[in-house]
Amino acid sequence: MSDTPVIGVLALQGDVREHLIALASADALARPVRRPEELAEVDGLVVPGGESTTMSKLAALFGMLEPLRERVAAGMPVYGTCAGMILLADKILDPRSGQETIGGIDMIVRRNAFGRQNESFEAAVEVAGIDGGPVEGVFIRAPWVESVGAQARVVAEHGGHIVAVRQGNALATSFHPELTGDHRLHAYFVDMVRAAR
Ligand code: GLN
Repeated sequence: MSDTPVIGVLALQGDVREHLIALASADALARPVRRPEELAEVDGLVVPGGESTTMSKLAALFGMLEPLRERVAAGMPVYGTCAGMILLADKILDPRSGQETIGGIDMIVRRNAFGRQNESFEAAVEVAGIDGGPVEGVFIRAPWVESVGAQARVVAEHGGHIVAVRQGNALATSFHPELTGDHRLHAYFVDMVRAAR
């Protein structure tokens, strides 16, 4: 029995492969998760970037929405990037009709908030708890966080907007560290998973 945590990547849609690679390089056993039985076997889960409306529809279709809500509510460590951040929000400001979230972080998220001004950009982002200087934030039609509740902690801002939040064992970033060679945020999440075991 090794100390290596098993971390799933929700593999319904989005940039699953990049997260699997980033997690593996941060010393986790990474595997795709599509079904409730697979979810039951992981110590933590990444919800990737992609299209949150599609992902939420597929999660409902695959019978994953309730199991995901249950595990997150029970304290399973979870990390959402971009669309994944939207899925971890307790509330979205401009949901498409029928768009549901997993929830878990007491925050209000605005979809495509940066996207309207600038489809895609990169910026250096200082993240609380990540040593060694700012991370390279890749923002692609990215959401931002309008506000957080008392339990949630803002861990990064960009241009006056909240772009990373942590609440207990849940972490969310507006940007995509999996698309850079810098895996410090994945390593940080792997440490969260280790600590929770
Ligand atoms: N705008 C997308 C959404 O609403 C998120 C984009 C992304 O994940 N890069 O889901």
